[in-house]
Amino acid sequence: MTDASRMPDRARLGAVADLDELCAFIGDCRRCRLAETRTTLVFGVGDPGADLLFIGEAPGKNEDLKGEPFVGAAGRLLDELLGSIGLHRSEVYIANVLKCRPPGNRDPQADEIETCTPFLAEQVRLIDPLVIATLGNFATRYVLGTDAGITRLRGRLFEVDGRRVVPIYHPAAALYSPDKRGVLFDDFRRLATVMQWAREGRPVAPTARLSAGHEDWLEVFADPSGGAERSAGEHEADAGEGAPADQQKLF
Ligand code: SF4
Repeated sequence: MTDASRMPDRARLGAVADLDELCAFIGDCRRCRLAETRTTLVFGVGDPGADLLFIGEAPGKNEDLKGEPFVGAAGRLLDELLGSIGLHRSEVYIANVLKCRPPGNRDPQADEIETCTPFLAEQVRLIDPLVIATLGNFATRYVLGTDAGITRLRGRLFEVDGRRVVPIYHPAAALYSPDKRGVLFDDFRRLATVMQWAREGRPVAPTARLSAGHEDWLEVFADPSGGAERSAGEHEADAGEGAPADQQKLF
């Protein structure tokens, strides 16, 4: 259970004016147990005015040592994926759900996510991206407020609080399952399309919106053919983690 006294002061956080101020606010944060085992707090990197924000899970071993997200093998793949759509990491912003490494790369725990994500929420507010790409299960579940897994959600476009959200496999997944590498490149191609549509001001179609409460989430899908609008109930009837690609490939 989260210790409320350790939660960041929301009012003070909301008054922070830029990322440097937010970084100073977080400081040598010791609000959760991960402070005991981390080497370096990993705030995030990139263009503070980026249109595209990537959200990963948490720092790994290399990131913990260097203080920068995505610097190991998964980071090199992320750079390659960005290059495939004509982008460099300096043109986007990269952050994580957790700012400190869970020991042994274990999964983030619920109270750690609850304590740390107010910082991420402020990063989103300050960067104000057009599009958020969530990398892997933890980032996707946090941003979409769902328990559904990434295999089920990737390949779709959502909208949260007026921002387009594109769930994508974590690049590390392709290091262990090479078959996911092609899926990742396909999803980055889709991401480039979403970016283009967002810059053109093209509305997300059809009409569903993901509410802040997250309970009544509906798929928001910009389907050029005017297709799939499905209810949450239909999602439940949908295939789960092992859903075949043709049920997810909605672009
Ligand atoms: S993970 Fe977040 S809340 Fe926990 S110590 Fe690090 S910065 Fe603070």
